[in-house]
Amino acid sequence: NAVMQPPALTESVTRFLSSAKKILIGGEWYAAASGKTFPVYNPATGTVIAQVAEGDKEDIERAVKAARLAFESGSWPSMTPSERGKLLWRIGDLILEHLDELAELESLDNGKPYTVAKAADVPLAADIFHYMAGWTTKRHGITIPISVINTPGVQYHAYTRPEPVGVVGQIIPWNFPLLMAAWKLAPALATGCTVVLKVAEETPLSALRLGELLMQAGLPKGVVNIVTGFGETAGAALAAHPGVDKVAFTGSTEVGKLIVKAAANDLKKVSLELGGKSPNIILKDANLETAIPGAANAIFFNHGQCCSAGSRLYVEQGIFDQVVEGVANIAKAIKLGPGLSPDTEMGPVVSIAQRDRVCSYLDIGEREGARMLAGGKVRTGSGYFVEPTVLVDTRNDMKVVQEEIFGPVVTAMSFKEFNSDLVNLANNSVYGLAAGIWTNDLSKAHTLAAQIKAGTVWVNCYNVFDAALPFGGYKQSGWGREMGEAVLENYTQTKAVTIRL
Ligand code: NAD
Repeated sequence: NAVMQPPALTESVTRFLSSAKKILIGGEWYAAASGKTFPVYNPATGTVIAQVAEGDKEDIERAVKAARLAFESGSWPSMTPSERGKLLWRIGDLILEHLDELAELESLDNGKPYTVAKAADVPLAADIFHYMAGWTTKRHGITIPISVINTPGVQYHAYTRPEPVGVVGQIIPWNFPLLMAAWKLAPALATGCTVVLKVAEETPLSALRLGELLMQAGLPKGVVNIVTGFGETAGAALAAHPGVDKVAFTGSTEVGKLIVKAAANDLKKVSLELGGKSPNIILKDANLETAIPGAANAIFFNHGQCCSAGSRLYVEQGIFDQVVEGVANIAKAIKLGPGLSPDTEMGPVVSIAQRDRVCSYLDIGEREGARMLAGGKVRTGSGYFVEPTVLVDTRNDMKVVQEEIFGPVVTAMSFKEFNSDLVNLANNSVYGLAAGIWTNDLSKAHTLAAQIKAGTVWVNCYNVFDAALPFGGYKQSGWGREMGEAVLENYTQTKAVTIRL
């Protein structure tokens, strides 16, 4: 099980890493006000790949000022929707022009396979900019015929204006570093907001490269400011800053609650994309040739570090053994290695902390009486490798079934038949982000899709994302939606204008 050595880095990534990694404020790159830096690690080896500016309250202060200035005056508010759309399109194009480089950087920093970053993360990041480019010219208000019954005989002309919410603070996690930055930035820019983006301390590199590309595309100075630093300092300062009109956060439910508290002080608008513990349901009539690999992909994609991961597998009695054995066999065959090695199918998890967190859940599962059908071990040696794991003999009240592990660990249980008990089982969670249903029975598929409390339901597929599809959570999985037309609501406020004629 020796972990393969990755090939040497390409020249463009080596060049990028060789310069100091700074904070982007008002179109210029600065060291942190404190002068401090922090190390960023390659999770496949545990070695330091870069030192990055450790932004803090003072840097957030300066970044918010720059974003405010850019919002209130200058070329951003005066840019026409069409010009803004072309700019967003150009950013999408530039991301694609740097596909290889960005995929390499993402793999190096986050640990995910290069092939996956190249096929999914980077193209999807470009796609949201291209998609949002179209919306800049298609957001408009309406005229409303009003009656105003207390002023009879008086005529009015009334209309609405969708206006940008203002300066937005965006805080993102490490699981899809570039894609999360793109999901956040593209709609904010499409609606005319300006941004201070606080990237995850584990994985700041691809967003910093994106910052360079934004400048290259011609984005006016101060429209996007990028601060690297830690959550409790830079992140908390951004969430609490009175000069920020809205906070958009993706990450853990625990921190989401802190964001809400911090934003409550001056009643900032808040949107949240939080954790999940999504049920993936396989009915007896499903096509198992697609359902079994589908269930494996639902949990093992991105090493289980997906908020939407299908981490609770429910299989109808009669096919349970066949399904879980099939998923376990896939788990055992997955090739672990550094993300940059061409034959790697699963890379390391993102950090030591995340490895230890996943391992602690494996211990908890064992103590709770779960049985490991596959995996369950951490690879010794350098790098943060955790084996893809299938847990059976689980019960719904177990911690491993209720809590988000955010690693390559699936719990599997059988259910008797398609009825309301199954719906209750699926909905027995504080989360409500996503769900999967595998069946050939249309009626059962639609019935379940309607009854499951989740923002996304996939039928006979899983982890399918599209820039046009809204994505977000019921219950403690969040507030608001990412992507699609729906995300524009996060960044817009409606003004009603009434004119007496
Ligand atoms: P996290 O919520 O701690 O971090 C996400 C982002 O929030 C990072 O940029 C971080 O710096 C920032 N942050 C942390 N504390 C903050 C604070 N007090 N104020 C403002 N910002 C703060 O997530 P994590 O520690 O990276 O991962 C822990 C768990 O979160 C994971 O195991 C997983 O369960 C969950 N998670 C969910 C998602 C998702 O997409 N829903 C993504 C990453 C992690």
